[in-house]
Amino acid sequence: MKADVFFHNGAILTMNANVQPEALAVADGKILAVGNKLELEPLIDSSTKVIDLAGSALLPGFNDAHVHVWKVGHLRTTMLDLREQTTLEGVYAAVRERATQLTPGTWLLGRGWNEAKLIGGAPDKTGLDAAAPNNPVVLTRTCAHIHAANSSALALSSITSETVAPTGGELDWLRGHAIETAYGLLQRAMPAPSVADYQGYILAGLGYLRSLGVTSATDPAVDPVLLEAYRSLEAQNKLPIRVNVLFIRRPDGGSETFPLPEKFNSGFLRIEGVKFFADGGLSGATAAVSIPFRNTEHTSYGVLRFETEELYQLALEAHLAGFRIGTHAIGDRALDQILEVYERLEIEHPNGMRHRIEHFGLANKTHLERAKKLGVIVVPQAIFLHELRANFQQYVPTPFLEHCYNLRAMIDAGLTLALSTDGPVVRELDPLEGIKAAMTEPMVEGNGITLEESLQAYTLNGAIAQGDGSNRGTLEVGKHADLVVISNPFTTKPEHWKLEKTFVAGLEITQ
Ligand SMILES: [Zn+2]
Repeated sequence: MKADVFFHNGAILTMNANVQPEALAVADGKILAVGNKLELEPLIDSSTKVIDLAGSALLPGFNDAHVHVWKVGHLRTTMLDLREQTTLEGVYAAVRERATQLTPGTWLLGRGWNEAKLIGGAPDKTGLDAAAPNNPVVLTRTCAHIHAANSSALALSSITSETVAPTGGELDWLRGHAIETAYGLLQRAMPAPSVADYQGYILAGLGYLRSLGVTSATDPAVDPVLLEAYRSLEAQNKLPIRVNVLFIRRPDGGSETFPLPEKFNSGFLRIEGVKFFADGGLSGATAAVSIPFRNTEHTSYGVLRFETEELYQLALEAHLAGFRIGTHAIGDRALDQILEVYERLEIEHPNGMRHRIEHFGLANKTHLERAKKLGVIVVPQAIFLHELRANFQQYVPTPFLEHCYNLRAMIDAGLTLALSTDGPVVRELDPLEGIKAAMTEPMVEGNGITLEESLQAYTLNGAIAQGDGSNRGTLEVGKHADLVVISNPFTTKPEHWKLEKTFVAGLEITQ
């Protein structure tokens, strides 16, 4: 067999420390050979594309182990992105401009405002009425827990000054703000995304990730309609990168339980994982903690979403059916709970499955040891250390700050750590920025991880976290030729790191 693509003259980072090959050959979308240049040269013929790396590095494509693909795509298409706005007037101007592109009556949705960063404060009903008098408008705060609506949106949702907010929510009629579960009232009036809408968002989200050198990703909260969108894109060979989904069993804010999906596994789509939420988040101070958050209006220990027994029963059903479980758990109380659930599964129904913990934000020494013993794969977000640092410093209980996304401790405990972004919770989805944050921005100095560890966490460990470690994640013969060429990170400074080329299944992506 002849090589379709042949790489040489650079640093070939196989993610296997023992091998430092000079050349790599690709054929039929897979890695054909890795080794000595002279030995591999006979694989070249007139149709081979020979790539002189000129000192740059070739490595497995990046894997984002936790990214809300459709939401990323939504913000890049029809959802108004407010994350860059610095003034309230800027927010209103963006709404005004978007409204001119919409037919009257069409919902105008936006996301990403943060009153702490806006001169003029939070958007409100009066301002939104003036900016878009003919469209219902809902602008979601960056945290997704507070939503500003205009009069038209409130009227369509049958919200009046008399409306009582549902349990766990709040309505601020004068400002037009719906908080926590009160958002459900607005949401019911909005058109739900169709399969076709979701397809558009998925393609926009995955296309963007691919432009950053991400060649595989896990979408960590997929409901039945979104799943249908993924299935049909896969059937039409339209998925631009490989996707693993974690199917959601209990939707956010809901009490119904979706039945387990049909398992599916092709080269580009993998459905064999489920997702649970054990608690809330750190940036909005809703993770379940044993010491109260600082600087909150009322004393708050955050929220546990489940009674332990109920979570165990739901997890058991998935575990017995051979699904990998990924559980969102950040606070120490949530970590205690999910580790107890995983320990029970392991003792009562051992099957060798390595379950995941998403975020793993405030893990202490005991959590690390328990997770290691169970073979749990942890999926933290290094980029949080950069983008959400101010929130952590404001809210996280002081004794927990040293545990906060302590990647060094996770690796030292022997855990398999897969890096991710949780986009669009953060704006920056570039793996090279995540690697920089992992190395240089720990909450406590000295707790950064090395370049080698970061690269492995963004490639091989991501593949393992998806149960796909035998097909990708390293540069070995027979694995998918999902590759990136970047400026050599070992010989250039981080500020000069640059993605040069991306290949998916052996094909070079031209953006
Ligand atoms: Zn998430």
